[in-house]
Amino acid sequence: MQIRLQELATKPGYRAQFDYTIDLSQEEVGFEFPFQQPVRLEGEVSDDAGAITLSATIYAHVTTRCARCGKPVEYDKETDVEFLLVKELENDDEDRDDLYLVESDAVELDDILIPELILDMEMSVLCDEDCKGLCPKCGQDLNQGQCGCVTKEIDPRLAVLQKFLNSKK
Ligand SMILES: [Zn+2]
Ligand SMILES: [Zn+2]
Repeated sequence: MQIRLQELATKPGYRAQFDYTIDLSQEEVGFEFPFQQPVRLEGEVSDDAGAITLSATIYAHVTTRCARCGKPVEYDKETDVEFLLVKELENDDEDRDDLYLVESDAVELDDILIPELILDMEMSVLCDEDCKGLCPKCGQDLNQGQCGCVTKEIDPRLAVLQKFLNSKK
């Protein structure tokens, strides 16, 4: 959704509220397509004596996989965003992360908000804190029980020694 700053500026104290959904089902994050359901963007752009603030909450239903066992995991997430929209940066503004530089009068909210959602995505989600993951050898889901593989990787040089020791028994 687009908002025109010029219109805001001519109406002091005016608040432009928005609440809409967008389809991000083609958006890839970490080799997954986590937004199978529409993402909702809700908030307002307000002009307080020339200081234009964008504050929003992004509601997303995330569909992903457990980083250890690959089982599907779904959860709801909310990301809060607040920016002061500015047309130019002052010298000492460079370190501030609450400013968003707008390049034209027409501000595309999606372009500001969606990157914030992506940045806020959890990099590794587990189906359960205690998920045991998959056996690296046979691929069995270790949450379902042990597979009996010896999973400790043995250094090939030690393996030779191991063989030697076994033959001595
Ligand atoms: Zn898991
Ligand atoms: Zn195994």
